[in-house]
Amino acid sequence: MPSELRHDWRREELLALFDLPLTELLFRAASVHREHFDPAEVQVSTLLSVKTGGCPEDCGYCPQAQRYHTGVDATKLMDGAAVLEKARQAKAAGASRFCMGAAWRSPKDRDIPKVAEMIAGVKALGLETCATLGMLSPGQAGALKDAGLDYYNHNLDTAPEFYGDVIHTRQYQDRLDTLEHVREAGLKTCCGGIVGMGETRAQRAGLLQALANLPAHPDSVPINRLVQVAGTPLAGTAELDPFEFVRMIAVARIAMPRSMVRLSAGREAMSDELQALCFAAGANSIFYGEKLLTTGNPDVERDQALFVRLGLRPMPLDHCDTHHGTATPAGATVHADITEPAPACGRAA
Ligand code: SF4
Repeated sequence: MPSELRHDWRREELLALFDLPLTELLFRAASVHREHFDPAEVQVSTLLSVKTGGCPEDCGYCPQAQRYHTGVDATKLMDGAAVLEKARQAKAAGASRFCMGAAWRSPKDRDIPKVAEMIAGVKALGLETCATLGMLSPGQAGALKDAGLDYYNHNLDTAPEFYGDVIHTRQYQDRLDTLEHVREAGLKTCCGGIVGMGETRAQRAGLLQALANLPAHPDSVPINRLVQVAGTPLAGTAELDPFEFVRMIAVARIAMPRSMVRLSAGREAMSDELQALCFAAGANSIFYGEKLLTTGNPDVERDQALFVRLGLRPMPLDHCDTHHGTATPAGATVHADITEPAPACGRAA
C-alpha cells in the first residue's frame, strides 16, 4: 500500500492503479484515506468570482475567455464591502474557507492592494482565505501572503503533453513558475486539474504524476470534471465515463495521501450516488453555496441533505489543521494551518 508521501511516481505505477478492478482500487484508496483523515469529514469551501469574464487567455474549457462567445459578461473587480458580505453569508452557511477568483492572466500590481484589502477583511471574519488570480510574480505572492492569504489556487490543468492542445497563451512552465513563487512566499497551494477534455487515461495519470511529483504535494487537489459550455472549443467533447472520474479521485488519494482531494467544477451534474462513490474513493472536500465561477453548483440545501443521508459532516477548521500537512521532498511533513480552494474555469480549483 503506497500510502507514504512520495515524489517519485512513475507514470506506469499510476496507470497500474487506474487499471485495477474498481472494487480493489476503491479499497486501496479508502484505506489510505483512513490513515490520514476521518472519512466522515468533508471540508467545505465557498468560491466567489470577484472579477468575472473578459480574460485574455485562451483556455479551451473556459467561458470566461474573452475570445469565445459564451454570453459571459465581463465585470470589474468587485467592491470590497460586497465581497465581505458574501463571505459573511458563506460563513453562516458553514463554509470554513472562502476563495476569491478573478479572471486575469495575472493581476496588475495596481490590483494587489485592492485584493489584499479583501483578503484581510475575509480573514478577520475567521475564515481561511484563498485566491485564484492567475500567474503571480514573487513580489505579488509575498504581498498576498502579508495580507493574510492562506492558500493560492493555480491548476496544472492536465498532463504536460496535452496542455498545448487546450491552452496556447501560456506554457506549462509558466504554471510551475507561479506555483514555485507561491510556495516560496509561504502560501499553501491548491493545485489540480480538469478531466473529460478529451485526454487519455495515460494523460490523466500524467496530470496526477505532475501534481504528486511537485516539490511539495499541493495542500488541496481540486479535480474538476469539464463543464461543457457552448462557444468554447471543448464544447461537444465526448463525456468522460463517471467511473473513470471515480478512478481519478481514487488514484489522486493514493498518490497524495495527505492532501485534500476536492470535488470541484462539474459536481452539479453528478448524481448523489456518483458523489457518494467519490467520497468512498477518498474525496474529502467540496465547494458549496456560491457559484463555481460561471458554472452552477448544487445549492446548499441539496449538499446538506446529501451529507445527512451519507452520514458525513463538515470538517472543522481545527481538524483540517490536525490532519493536514505539506509534504517535503524528503517525505517529512510540515504542519499546515488549514485547508484549500478551486473554480470551474479550471483555474480554481
Ligand atoms: S481558465 Fe482562467 S486564465 Fe484561462 S481563460 Fe479562464 S479565467 Fe482566463
